[in-house]
Amino acid sequence: MYIDLILRNMSRFADMLFTYRLSSDQEDKIKIGHRVSIPFGRSNKPIEAFVVAKRDSLGPGDIGEDKIKEIFEILDVEPMLSQENIRLIMWIRNRYMCTYMDALNLFYPKGYRLEAKKIEKDGQVVWTYKDKKNEKKLSYLSLRYDLDTIDRIVGEKRYRLGPKQVDIIKFLGLNKSVESRSLMEILGVSNQTIKSLVDKDLIEVKEENYYRRSEARFRSPVKKISLNKDQVQVVDQIKEGFFLDEKKPYLLHGVTGSGKTEVYMELIEYSLNQGLDSILLVPEIALTPQMIARVKARFGDIVGVFHSGLSEGQKHDVYREIKNGNIRVTIGTRSALFLPFRSLGLIIIDEEHDMSYHSEMTPKYSTIEVARYMSLRQNICLVMGSATPSVADYYRADHGEYSLLELNNRANERAMPQIEIVDMKAEINRGNRSEISRVLEDEIVRTVNAGNQAILFLNRRGYASSVTCRECGHVIKCKRCDISLTYHKFKNKGLCHYCGHEEDIPSMCPECSSTNIGVLGLGTEKIEEYINKKYPSFRTLRIDKDTTSKKGQLEAILDDFNRQEADVLIGTQILSKGHDFENVTLVGIISADMMLNYPDFRSFEQTYQLITQVAGRAGRGQKRGHVVLQTYNVDHFAIRHAVNYDYKSFYKDEIRLRRAFGYEPFNNMFRLVFSGNNYNIVKNNATKFIETVRYLLEARSIEVKGILGPNECSINKINDRYRWQVIIKDEVMDVKEIKSMLRYICISKFDQIFDKDININIEINPNSFI
Ligand code: ADP
Ligand code: ZN
Ligand code: ZN
Repeated sequence: MYIDLILRNMSRFADMLFTYRLSSDQEDKIKIGHRVSIPFGRSNKPIEAFVVAKRDSLGPGDIGEDKIKEIFEILDVEPMLSQENIRLIMWIRNRYMCTYMDALNLFYPKGYRLEAKKIEKDGQVVWTYKDKKNEKKLSYLSLRYDLDTIDRIVGEKRYRLGPKQVDIIKFLGLNKSVESRSLMEILGVSNQTIKSLVDKDLIEVKEENYYRRSEARFRSPVKKISLNKDQVQVVDQIKEGFFLDEKKPYLLHGVTGSGKTEVYMELIEYSLNQGLDSILLVPEIALTPQMIARVKARFGDIVGVFHSGLSEGQKHDVYREIKNGNIRVTIGTRSALFLPFRSLGLIIIDEEHDMSYHSEMTPKYSTIEVARYMSLRQNICLVMGSATPSVADYYRADHGEYSLLELNNRANERAMPQIEIVDMKAEINRGNRSEISRVLEDEIVRTVNAGNQAILFLNRRGYASSVTCRECGHVIKCKRCDISLTYHKFKNKGLCHYCGHEEDIPSMCPECSSTNIGVLGLGTEKIEEYINKKYPSFRTLRIDKDTTSKKGQLEAILDDFNRQEADVLIGTQILSKGHDFENVTLVGIISADMMLNYPDFRSFEQTYQLITQVAGRAGRGQKRGHVVLQTYNVDHFAIRHAVNYDYKSFYKDEIRLRRAFGYEPFNNMFRLVFSGNNYNIVKNNATKFIETVRYLLEARSIEVKGILGPNECSINKINDRYRWQVIIKDEVMDVKEIKSMLRYICISKFDQIFDKDININIEINPNSFI
């Protein structure tokens, strides 16, 4: 029998399946998805591989019978991957144009690794290998017999037990099974003392797996909530379709605080009752402690949490517990989708519009697309929830691809906070040049004096946006990235937000030698300084990348603010997500314009989302909330509709633009970024690419259309590598045709067309175009 394998650690250029032979005793054991070790190359070095197909004979395209090698061994008892996993790996490879191994790595559990070593043996070089599994065991101690029997044995055998040993026996008599290290701690006994009891056969040791679970920081009392009419209707509709063969994904459009989380939990319970597991995806774990606490409080220790912040060991343990069936409900970030669920019945994607659902690492997959595929192939119920769905997904719901469900009212019947617009142009005309308008400043003072809390939101960290020569207008840029440096007053340095490079601010302009150098624009740090100077009694906290780069810092600040140890919290993006602060009555959005002017076709959508989400942080408790929004673009439709919480009108205006310009969801967009160390070579290669595309299309009499570029990327240099881009829309060719063309040009013919130090990055419907 023969097997086709995906090999671990293969280069991009050897991205294919390899065929090996099995010995007869392996034939019975091998299953699709098994991990095996195989001899590879001339030295027959052992490497890891995964079985994706079994067959009885070789085909004409295969290597010859005489050359085919036998595998070494099957590495695990149970296959690591399921049939479904393999199918998904194939799909991901094709959809996102990555290698087999890139796709497989999504599923590859942390903590497993095959290590091969060369050793010399009798003058001959041979390979040895071992499989490393990162599993921690704990010893549990218990009595071998009941106390009376132990007494009898001790008498009969004339054992002389010391007082510590007697303590241990008494303690274990009261507690059935105790982990040995805890026992040593509690009773102050040594390992030696325990061991002598084991040797006397009075107590026994059992090794058990230890699962390193991360703990939630918040604990919430279980409050059993009975769902309101709207929620019941939503839940019922989803339950009804739960076992239909052909079901559509659900898009749950529910305003902030409409009780979506309660709906999710009801569905999870239903799924559990059907014997099925569930997964609840969230954008960022650190930002959802309350949600985790609620789910854990309701479902107990069958709830697991999975995200990139866990250690390898912790990840490994969650993986094992899911595989064992101990974890039935998983809350996680996008990568949790690839955990080894036994029988998954429900996938929930909360805040489905969030950009973190697009992977920025290879494979650059869309979590929603992958979930949709899984839902379809494995008949899993998929629910995507948001107060501000992505325009593309809302369009799909509008056109029957998804079932649209709505929750239009807040569950606790509190009104949405009112959003007040401040026209910053008028503010300047009135002579106020400060970044904080009179209206907002008055509100901050009123809020803090009343013993309430305020959040000030600004989309940029640091002190000021840029360092500029006031004489000639020269902007100081990062040497490596061609991006203006952001001034950070605390460090008194300019920092590149792309590559992290920092440098001193020059005292003299490198262009005109003027010493009149100043800072323009503003960042979170400057706002904090303003408040601290003018209102020294106000206690402030700041959340941005600068204050939260270390593990646990973000949680600590949120915790402090939650315990009302500060009056004003100033922060970036992070503040828009999920938080539930009881005492916040004021939210100030310092500038809506930074998002609006961002060079991306999604900037209006993101502005709408951000305003709605940030505003949703106000007035979540008993007190009424208020929002002040500062902007120079009071008439922009994204701002007008956000102020009225009118998602549908926003959608109508936005979708019209998308249609007119052929953006998502009307077209798919491929983006190719060419990068390299030499400006002209990069440019030439991008040009060669376009010429090749033209040539191929003309040869097939296809109209050359929907191809943009080559252009310099708006950040034309990152880390000393120049960047040029080409964008291809699926206007004349469909996605499949474009992909096979890209594969042909950029992989098969790479050596003939391109210079070898050129890197080509291909992404479908990318997150950003900068
Ligand atoms: P969302 O996830 O849509 O923002 P949540 O589920 O967090 O909304 O609910 C917002 C608040 O309303 C929470 O404090 C929650 O306990 C409360 N809530 C939700 N459903 C109900 C209900 N049926 N009756 C009373 N309170 C509810
Ligand atoms: Zn100058
Ligand atoms: Zn840089």
